[in-house]
Amino acid sequence: MNARMIPKCNSLHLGILPLTVLALVFFGVWNLRRVPAGMFGHVLTVALSPCSRKDVLVLTPWLAPIIWEGTFNIDILNEQFRLRNTTIGLTVFAIKKYVVFLKLFLETAEQHFMVGHKVTYYVFTDRPADVPLVPLGTGRKLVVLTVRNYTRWQDVSMHRMEMISHFSERRFLHEVDYLVCADVDMKFSDHVGVEILSALFGTLHPGFYSSSREAFTYERRPQSQAYIPRDEGDFYYAGGFFGGSVLEVHHLTKACHEAMVQDKANGIEAVWHDESHLNKYLLYHKPTKVLSPEYVWDQKMGWPSIMKKLRYVAVPKNHQAIRNR
Ligand code: UDP
Ligand code: MN
Repeated sequence: MNARMIPKCNSLHLGILPLTVLALVFFGVWNLRRVPAGMFGHVLTVALSPCSRKDVLVLTPWLAPIIWEGTFNIDILNEQFRLRNTTIGLTVFAIKKYVVFLKLFLETAEQHFMVGHKVTYYVFTDRPADVPLVPLGTGRKLVVLTVRNYTRWQDVSMHRMEMISHFSERRFLHEVDYLVCADVDMKFSDHVGVEILSALFGTLHPGFYSSSREAFTYERRPQSQAYIPRDEGDFYYAGGFFGGSVLEVHHLTKACHEAMVQDKANGIEAVWHDESHLNKYLLYHKPTKVLSPEYVWDQKMGWPSIMKKLRYVAVPKNHQAIRNR
């Protein structure tokens, strides 16, 4: 799917606009006592701007919203998720030298990630003593999960699926409603809130959101469980930001882990490791929301004008030094 293929937004025809406003005002005034305080304004605003982005794809062909700045009303969404007392788990891995990324990751998450909601950071690390003490806001806590490391960075990255799956069953299902699974070599630089939450979500990779499917770096060898033929595929999703309900994330991470175990037994490793398997899974289990590249950005891609906000951005790293390969 090409981001330049822009569907026509539904917009109120000018001829019926005055009538619609009249009807809304009449309905609104008549219904005023039944509308919660502060909501009446939204009714008019939302009704008068049914779709505020015409320059980007805002809906997948399977009718999942694609989340861009200007497509949602955060006040309405915050109210919805607060009413349900939603708790969000943010999983992040800081294995070996990657602990150096934790401080900025957590500090910026405190400023931008799910502010006003209940949040549990799950920090997976082999170096619990190196987890920085970052002051947390009310309703927010941090849990350190001590896990093993692997020699190869590819194995560290891939085994995240196994560990998230393992802890989903044993802990997360009983502790949080949603899981957000994130890379640590990143910082939050603008709002990331409940607009992302849905049963299953993935994020458009910043390098491929405007590419056609033939250009996607899917695994192309049929011997791998992550194989996707050239004539299949919707989007290319980033490995560094996905999530959903704990149950859906458990299904996803378990399936990806099992596929990687199978690949290993067959002596093959997918070209982009866990990201290849994530892409395979999301092709056959369509996400219920898709996040725009605002939610995984890399400054190397510049700042195109369709990107109104850069919310979660790669921290430049010297791969050789950090990964200690
Ligand atoms: N990671 C880690 N230690 C390592 C290698 C990777 O903790 O030695 C984790 C970390 O959370 C990182 C993620 O695995 O963000 C994915 O690896 P990386 O960010 O290096 O992959 P890239 O974003 O460059 O594809
Ligand atoms: Mn990364």
